[in-house]
Amino acid sequence: MKLKLDLHTHCYEALGFPEPSIETVGVIIDAARRKGLDGLAITEHYSKRYGLLSKEIAQKYFGDEIIIIPGQEIRVYTQEVVELYMDEGRVFRFLVHPSNLYAFERHEYNIQGIEIDNHLHNGYIYKEGVRQLAAQRGLLLLRNSDAHNLEALGSFYNLLSLEEINTPTEY
Ligand SMILES: [Zn+2]
Repeated sequence: MKLKLDLHTHCYEALGFPEPSIETVGVIIDAARRKGLDGLAITEHYSKRYGLLSKEIAQKYFGDEIIIIPGQEIRVYTQEVVELYMDEGRVFRFLVHPSNLYAFERHEYNIQGIEIDNHLHNGYIYKEGVRQLAAQRGLLLLRNSDAHNLEALGSFYNLLSLEEINTPTEY
């Protein structure tokens, strides 16, 4: 089943940095529902904690209404990478808003996807290079909001099945 998923969001920042709670998760789920999303990844900068706790609260109090995928955004060499923590310890990684591919060409990146569209940084993405790289390496082309406020949530999204991001290819 194809789901409407925004895989790169900063909900913690969007909410003004409150501790995760039933209330904050409720606000995130409401916003996602309003945007017609089936799910979203919570990918704060250098912190898995917010996504992991929010997922726990969502599952406990909101059932499977909206899928929350925990993740984080980190820097690998000079390039930002988002990691998504999937079932059974699997990690799905993708390059986010690459303005060039210099770092990628010089270093080994274990990634399974790459952003072609990002609401926040769309003007800077090296789209021609991204398309070529995705075709060469069999990477998933992704479109995400990178939302730092709730209004931006779902402004870009992907139509994917969970299996497509739950079985990362290693190379
Ligand atoms: Zn980001």
